[in-house]
Formats: sequence, structure tokens, C-alpha cells
Amino acid sequence: MENHSFDVIIIGGSYAGLSAGMALGRSLRDVLIIDAGKPCNRQTPHSHNFLTHDGKTPAEISEMGREQVEKYDTVKFYNGVVVKTVKNTTGFELETESGEKFNAKKLIIATGMKDVMPDIPGFNECWGVSVLHCPYCHGYEVKNETTGILANGEAAFEFSKMILNWTKDLTLFTNGKSELSTDQTQQLNQYHVNINEDEFEKIEHENGYIQKIRFKNGKEIPLKALYAKIPLTQNFDVSADLGCQLTDHGFIEIDAHQKTSVPGVYACGDNATMMRSVANAVAQGNFAGAMVNKELVDEEFS
Ligand code: FAD
Ligand code: MG
Repeated sequence: MENHSFDVIIIGGSYAGLSAGMALGRSLRDVLIIDAGKPCNRQTPHSHNFLTHDGKTPAEISEMGREQVEKYDTVKFYNGVVVKTVKNTTGFELETESGEKFNAKKLIIATGMKDVMPDIPGFNECWGVSVLHCPYCHGYEVKNETTGILANGEAAFEFSKMILNWTKDLTLFTNGKSELSTDQTQQLNQYHVNINEDEFEKIEHENGYIQKIRFKNGKEIPLKALYAKIPLTQNFDVSADLGCQLTDHGFIEIDAHQKTSVPGVYACGDNATMMRSVANAVAQGNFAGAMVNKELVDEEFS
């Protein structure tokens, strides 16, 4: 790539990053989007709950987005992984895995989050297909089906309450001793939620579609869908080189204008919000793009 200096570099070119890129490209900014090409929803067969794109594949949505952003000749793309970001006197210097360096006045971090898979055979293959993280994304498709929840403690109680909205045929799997209070257990029993403490051996499935759960004690339970609360971590550790603050939940701390704690660095999408959806990533990217342009306008005008 000839030009290595940009007004703005966006790290991550999925829904949030592309949306920020569109806003900035249309603002006549020289933009580089660097993307490693691994969005978190890549395994899910259909993406739901994003107006105008309900039920499309995740790739259809992002490919259409990329095509539309590529039309702006102010925006360039680079396929690769950013491994280092350093603040300098004029802005930021970035380095990719292959050793290429780029400079920018402002940065937008749109790198998403990574789901940490539990050590249960079959879980990974079913993730996003029949093992689900979010009822708003996938609950309608498995409404009234024989459903499980894999979670424990407070989160399990809250999640069970929520999922009862989509199905009454519900079992809570604590995968070991239940940490629910007596009161929570009684409340769930009233709604006929079974609580099962057997330990998972594996999830038996066909192409990611669950057939049954096999337990270490030899028992089996057939299921159509399993919701799971699993840990999330940042894909790209911006706190390490740039010093961006994270929240207690591990998201990048941002203000009402998508600004991080480091001047000139903005964040948008999954890495900066608990409300994990394509619509929200697109909205945050759109807003971050406008806010970065505004900051550049103010600096150039003064
Ligand atoms: P992502 O889409 O995760 O993209 C981040 C991008 O940044 C990736 O391309 C990644 O490779 C890149 N990247 C990361 N680090 C670097 C780096 N260092 N250098 C360069 N590039 C980097 N939402 C819905 O609205 N409807 C659904 O049906 C739905 N289903 C889902 C199913 C699953 C299994 C999951 C996990 C999520 C689902 N979601 C759904 C949520 C939705 O996918 C996310 O909210 C959305 O993808 C967030 O967009 P993003 O751009 O912030 O992050
Ligand atoms: Mg220019």
C-alpha cells in the first residue's frame, strides 16, 4: 500500500467498523479499515432482528456493507491483524502482524469480543446454531421447543426468567451443584422449570444441531436448543498498549460520544457495549464516525 498515513484508521471492519467507515468516507476523510475477517457471529446460519436484513446470513450483511463502503474512494481496506498501537506526537502508529506500519490522526477500535468456549465436546460446533447466547437474536426460531439453559447462580435465575418468555418447556442445567438460593429454586419450580445438576459429558449434534446432552453419569436428555452464558474477552487488548480503561465487565469504557479514556481513540460495537447486536454495532459505528469527524473539524478550524 502506497500511502501509509491516514486521517483515521478503523481497527475491525465488521458491522461497527464498516458503519464508522461509511460515515467518515462520506465526510471526505482518508480512512483505512484494517480487518482480520473474523466476526463473532460467523458460525450462525441466520442473523435476526436487524431491520431490512432479518434472516440473512451474517456474511450477506457484511459483504453488502463492505461493497457499499468500498464505493467511497476515500476509504481503503487492508486485510490483516493489528498487533500494536503506539501514541506519538502526531497521532498513532500501528503495526500489523506482517510488520507493516500505518499512521493516523485518530483511531476507532471496532474489534468486537471473543466468546470463550467451555471445555464441553460439541459445544463449539453448536455455537450460534443450536447453542445460543441471545433470545432476541434466535429465540423466535426455537419458541415453544424443548430448551435448556446452561448457567448457574444469579445469572442462571435471571436468564431462566427471561427465556420463559419464549418457551415453557425449560430445564436449567447447572452442570454441577446448583448455586441458586432456595427462594430462586422455589420460584423457578412454580414455573415448572426443571433444575438439573448432572455434569455434562458432551453435546451430541448433527451439523451443529443438538440432538441430546450426554451426562457423565450416563444419563441423556434430548433437546432442541440450549442457551448458554459463557465468558467474553476483548479480541484486541487496547488497554495494554494504548492504556484505554475497561469497565468492570471488561468492555472498553466510552463516554456518550464513543470516546475512550485516551484522547483521539474511539470505540464502537461489541467491544464497548453489553447490548450485543448488529443493529447496535451499526448505530455505534455510525455515531463514532460522526464524532471523529467533528473532532477533526474542530481541530482544523481553530
Ligand atoms: P464483530 O462483528 O465481532 O467484528 C469484529 C471484527 O474485528 C472482526 O472482523 C475481527 O476479525 C476484527 N478484529 C478483531 N481484532 C482485530 C485486530 N487486532 N486487527 C484487525 N481486525 C481485528 N446479532 C444480531 O443482531 N442478530 C443475530 O442473529 C446475532 N446472532 C449472533 C450469533 C452469535 C453466535 C454471536 C456470537 C453473536 C450474534 N449476534 C447477533 C451479535 C452480533 O454478531 C454482534 O453484535 C456484532 O457482530 C458486533 O459487531 P462488531 O463489528 O462490533 O464486532
Ligand atoms: Mg482529506
